[in-house]
Formats: sequence, C-alpha cells, structure tokens
Amino acid sequence: MPFSHDMVYSLATVVDLINTSPEAGDHDALADLADLEAFVRLRRVSGVAALTPQDLAEVVELRQAFHAVFTAPDRATAISRLNTLLGRTRITPSLTDHDGFPLHVHYFAPGASVAEHLAADCGVALAHVLVEDEWERLRTCAAPDCSHVFVDESRNRSRVYCDSRTCGNRIHVAAYRARRKA
Ligand SMILES: [Zn+2]
Ligand SMILES: [Zn+2]
Repeated sequence: MPFSHDMVYSLATVVDLINTSPEAGDHDALADLADLEAFVRLRRVSGVAALTPQDLAEVVELRQAFHAVFTAPDRATAISRLNTLLGRTRITPSLTDHDGFPLHVHYFAPGASVAEHLAADCGVALAHVLVEDEWERLRTCAAPDCSHVFVDESRNRSRVYCDSRTCGNRIHVAAYRARRKA
C-alpha cells in the first residue's frame, strides 16, 4: 500500500479500536477506564493526560463512528461519514520525532483529549485510504462467526479474513470437513 509507516500505524490503531466493540468482537473490550488505559498504552497514543470517564465515553462514541465508516454500504457513504467525523475534529498538523520514532506528522491539536487525538490521526489516515481510492480495503471478516474489521494490505486486495491463522484456517478446516462428508 502506498501509505507511510505512521499512516499504517494509525490504520492499525483504528482497527484495534473498532475491534474492541461488542459489535465487532464478542464483548466490550473498552468497558472501563482500565481498559482504555491499556489501549492507550498498547497503541502508544502519545501526549495523553490522565484519563477520565468522559474520555471513555468519547472514545466509545468515536469507535462507533469509525465502525460506521468501515461498514458503509458504499464509497460515497464512507466519504460522507468520515467527513462528518473530521468536521467536528480540531486538526493541527505538526512534524515530530518523539520517543525515537522517525520524523512523522501528528494531526491532533495541542491539548487534545484521547478521543480528539484518535479522531484526528486515525481520521486523516482513513481519509488518505479514500483519496487513494482504496476504500474497498476497509473490510469486515468474512468468517460467519466473526465481525472483526481489518485493512486488507495484500497486493491484489484478496484478503477476506481478519486473521488467516485463526478465521481463515478455521474456515478451511470446515470446508475440508464438508467436502469429505459430501
Ligand atoms: Zn507520534
Ligand atoms: Zn475473523
């Protein structure tokens, strides 16, 4: 994919965020502040102050807005949903090389909350996916019992499972058993 490392990183973050939702996973993995703190640590969301219940509420709402972009029925709807999200996000680009990362652009405004940080950086990354006309890479897993979202980074855009080792493999085994029975 023609995306820089920090774009790819932000896309992985938004995928992880959406997959914490009970609609995409099997339970709400952002159920309390400890969950949010773990997520912020895991995804190395920088410049975040002490987290509050309001942060949790905002991130959960944002998670739903991002999920709606991934599951939009068509490209035009994805664009309009992402525009709504970006329209209510303060964005201030700045170059940084914090914590030993190579030089990259942050989009969140100074003093941004964790939800604003995620909305800005992940929102811009998704905007680039749409601009590059790669919207169809934003996918939901094809396994019947899995609703995880993922970004298909394969060259020929052929990936259909969130994880080939788990969902993909499970389906292959089921198909193999079905064939043997037939
Ligand atoms: Zn950074
Ligand atoms: Zn899956």
